[in-house]
Amino acid sequence: MALEEMDKRRLSGVDIIGRKKGLLVTPDLCIGCRGCQTACKEWNKLPGEGTVNRGTYENPPDLTPNLYNRIRFVETSTPDGLRWLFVSQRCMHCTDAGCIRVCPSPGALFRTPEGAVAFNKARCIGCKFCVAGCPFNIPRYDENDRISKCHLCSDRIANGLSPACAKTCPTGAISYGDRVDLIREARTSGYKAVYGEADLGGLGVLFAFREAPSFYGMPDKPSFSPTIGLWKGILKPLTIIGLAGAVAAAATHYVTVGPKEIDEGGDE
Ligand code: SF4
Ligand code: SF4
Ligand code: SF4
Repeated sequence: MALEEMDKRRLSGVDIIGRKKGLLVTPDLCIGCRGCQTACKEWNKLPGEGTVNRGTYENPPDLTPNLYNRIRFVETSTPDGLRWLFVSQRCMHCTDAGCIRVCPSPGALFRTPEGAVAFNKARCIGCKFCVAGCPFNIPRYDENDRISKCHLCSDRIANGLSPACAKTCPTGAISYGDRVDLIREARTSGYKAVYGEADLGGLGVLFAFREAPSFYGMPDKPSFSPTIGLWKGILKPLTIIGLAGAVAAAATHYVTVGPKEIDEGGDE
């Protein structure tokens, strides 16, 4: 198998065993109740945040470290009045994930066997490279400067449960299942083009759109910068070597010089 192909399969992980899971978001079915926002916060123990009235029912105005899934309100004036559409904004669990490509800290971002892009805060070094690598502006940082984002309820799906947002949605606007089945379901419902079917190797979160993606505030053709390829091939290995060198230097200093002593007589 060609190296590039093996690399693709390693990045996507689940393609090897053919059980990539995903979500299908259907804005036509969404009533904007935000039950999915609340369920996500509850399952992930994310605290509530103060908000202000900005003249729209959409709230909060953006994803935050404590908000992994936000319902974006697309409000459009038409001759018949205001048209409201509601779209879930969250990590797309890209098969070719720019965030994983650029992350220099092994294990900080990783692929689960079900195809989710999950994270380990203990390994995150707060460099924020994944922000630059993400075409959807998803990663956020908590008060300790560690990554925070939707992880496809990796703890639930690993135990055979559906993600909290899909489980809670009362209308089926977010449904969970095998990715191939979700694409079939959207087609059967009359959606000819499924957003995310082929983009970035196939998104884990698919969208059944009637209009152009840009109408819903999504990039028509999501992609990341070509420099990400350069980063992955040349700079990222150098960064990892640099990090390993820094750790080795610190360990050597500890062994040869000993721990840093605290000046007892210094400032309180
Ligand atoms: S949407 Fe962004 S954060 Fe999520 S997997 Fe894709 S690149 Fe990574
Ligand atoms: S999959 Fe889980 S973590 Fe992601 S938005 Fe839904 S409830 Fe939140
Ligand atoms: S729970 Fe379902 S219907 Fe309610 S806002 Fe979320 S996606 Fe829309």
